[in-house]
Amino acid sequence: MPRTERLYYNDSHLVEFEALVVDKTERVSGWTAVTLDRTAFYPTGGGQPSDTGTLDGLRVVECIDDEQDSVLHMIQGRAPEIGAAVKGRIDWPRRLDHIQQHTGQHILSQALITLFSAPTRGFRVLDQSCEIDVELTNPTDAVIDRAVELANNVIWEDRAIAIKTVTREEARGLPLRKEPAREGELRVIEIEGFDLTPCGGTHAFRTGEVGMIAMRSWERAKGLTRIEFLAGGRALADYRRANQTARAVAGLFSAAREDAAKLTARMLAENKELHWRVRALEEIAARVEANDLIAAASPDTAGTRTIAHILDNRDAESLKHLALALIAHPQTIALLGSRDKEAARLVFARSADAEGDMNALMRKACAKLDGRGGGKPDLAQGGGKNPEKLDEAIGLAVGALSEQ
Ligand SMILES: [Zn+2]
Repeated sequence: MPRTERLYYNDSHLVEFEALVVDKTERVSGWTAVTLDRTAFYPTGGGQPSDTGTLDGLRVVECIDDEQDSVLHMIQGRAPEIGAAVKGRIDWPRRLDHIQQHTGQHILSQALITLFSAPTRGFRVLDQSCEIDVELTNPTDAVIDRAVELANNVIWEDRAIAIKTVTREEARGLPLRKEPAREGELRVIEIEGFDLTPCGGTHAFRTGEVGMIAMRSWERAKGLTRIEFLAGGRALADYRRANQTARAVAGLFSAAREDAAKLTARMLAENKELHWRVRALEEIAARVEANDLIAAASPDTAGTRTIAHILDNRDAESLKHLALALIAHPQTIALLGSRDKEAARLVFARSADAEGDMNALMRKACAKLDGRGGGKPDLAQGGGKNPEKLDEAIGLAVGALSEQ
């Protein structure tokens, strides 16, 4: 099997190239893997997604390495013939994005070494951001911001980035940031006066091309610190999204963006306080409402009042308040229902001197509502998904009560 000459090793900014098709194989997926004698396409690897682009106008959806050190260009549908001379073209915006993220990672990783002797153990380019896993103990926003600050200074100093090929012997004498992953001659990426790392990826010509680095979030993960960051165009895109969100929230308060968090926190605190005031008022209202219901109900021959009543938009808690206010009266049974949005709610209760098993009634009523519920002989709660059957369910409970 032929090896593919990797043109991106020497020129990470090469967009167009000419090559010969030296092999092609049909895949079960329906794709064809095309091998070229030379390519500018970077294949998936090192935490970096593959380039995409075209071969003679045919879409290359992914590139991967094979075991023979060839680069396979995956094409869907018709593919060029073996022996054909083809013109390849990579998607430059995607390559530039990968160059910014990947080179940004070199710089940020070295900044974390320089400041905190914290080596990077993993790197991934994700859909919208990137992640590095770092041996950083005691991470804080301030600590990570310092590393990001240093990384940005290195970017804005626009330092040169050189590619060097060294032997294993020579490599041993060099202060490499990480152990080389492969045998034989090494490709070493040197960021002038800052970083020296063996790497087979695509890099900027100068650090300025990375634009900037921003930290988005961090967390502890598997004994390491996982830092989510963005470089270059991704940092700008993320700024736009964050700014849009912040301005939308600030707009709700007709306030400045910087005040939005403070105002939201204040509103949440007020909301909590209002919630408790509403609950307290509901208890008072429940007593008044209970008195009206009691006054309207006539006791049976044994002197017991059964109040079967359906209300609108009462949640479980306020329905329970009303039931408790009712059974504060002697010889009272409360069979209450509520149409609460899409749900049906039930609370059955009786005063200590009244007869009846509320738990048994509740189970019967809930079966009618296609729901569930239960409780004790004197107090039971439940609900279901059929508020339109509340009438029937409570009617069932009234009927069953007379049979108990
Ligand atoms: Zn690299």
